[in-house]
Amino acid sequence: MPKRFTPDEYAAGVLSGNRVLLSRAITLVESTLPSDQDLAHRVMELVLPHTGNSVRVGITGVPGVGKSTFIEAFGNHLLEQHGKKLAVLAIDPTSQRTGGSILGDKTRMETLASNPKAYIRPSPAGKTLGGVARSTRESIVLCEAAGFDVIFVETVGVGQSETAVHEMVDFFLLLMLAGAGDELQGIKKGIMEMADAIAITKADGPNLHPATSAQAEYQGALHLFPLGPSQWSPKVTVCSAYEKTGLQPIWELVQEYVQLAQGNGYFQKRRQEQNLHWLKHSIRQQLEERFYQNPAVQVQWSQISQQVTQGQKSPFAAAAELFGLLS
Ligand code: GDP
Repeated sequence: MPKRFTPDEYAAGVLSGNRVLLSRAITLVESTLPSDQDLAHRVMELVLPHTGNSVRVGITGVPGVGKSTFIEAFGNHLLEQHGKKLAVLAIDPTSQRTGGSILGDKTRMETLASNPKAYIRPSPAGKTLGGVARSTRESIVLCEAAGFDVIFVETVGVGQSETAVHEMVDFFLLLMLAGAGDELQGIKKGIMEMADAIAITKADGPNLHPATSAQAEYQGALHLFPLGPSQWSPKVTVCSAYEKTGLQPIWELVQEYVQLAQGNGYFQKRRQEQNLHWLKHSIRQQLEERFYQNPAVQVQWSQISQQVTQGQKSPFAAAAELFGLLS
């Protein structure tokens, strides 16, 4: 078992920007061991007063849209042109099943990974979405405490994880391909509605023209959505990670958004709402854990669940009966 430090040692290490201790602290928040979780909570409490000073950007898009190539090019742009410190976190609970083609793959984002101003953390393997979401959320806070001022949270645009990411970022960037069919590339309308910006990727060579047409098309589609409470109207841009074009305009959009949302108070309000969301999420999760760990529930579980599967008992009656065992 790796050595455990005291909460003060973890916190001091993270706050001084020590990457080894940052990684160890993230491992703690990813752990499901109750003793690790206790320790993690104490570390979080110590670092929390030193957090909040970053722009959190969610980046999503279907596999193959060019997310990792984009993140590498955009990330390097921010490091080189704007002197930023960037952390990249992934929230993909499927990363294990796809054989590490998500962030776990060491060949992805090579130049970023070797840059001391960047920190890349793959999704913890073998976790449920709920587990990944919770630890990613806490990892954001730890990375901020370690001095990273831009945080990317990457997710794959195929399922539920976008909603979880949307609940932890300030700005949500959707990457899309031009000419990949009008079915919105498997991207549900709900995801487009969450986007603060859409970037059409691979706008180079013969793709450039289709990309600019797609830009106009999506901009038209976005205008149909009502303006959100941030008062921001989502923008569509084109970019090429290969040619490193269109990257600066995306950063300008993020900055414009932050300026607007900070100016009208939405930025803070949203972070407060997100905190409340994660409080409720944690309560649900802890209630569920306590329920299933209850010895009386464990004794009765197999019999009662079998009665439900065989139609001898309604799920609602069974839930009430099991809850009755808690008191
Ligand atoms: P991800 O699955 O969304 O992370 O996508 P990748 O970053 O792995 O990219 C998928 C494919 O698109 C790869 O073959 C890349 O080489 C290619 N690709 C990525 N960015 C660009 C780009 O800017 N222009 C062109 N032409 N191809 C790109």
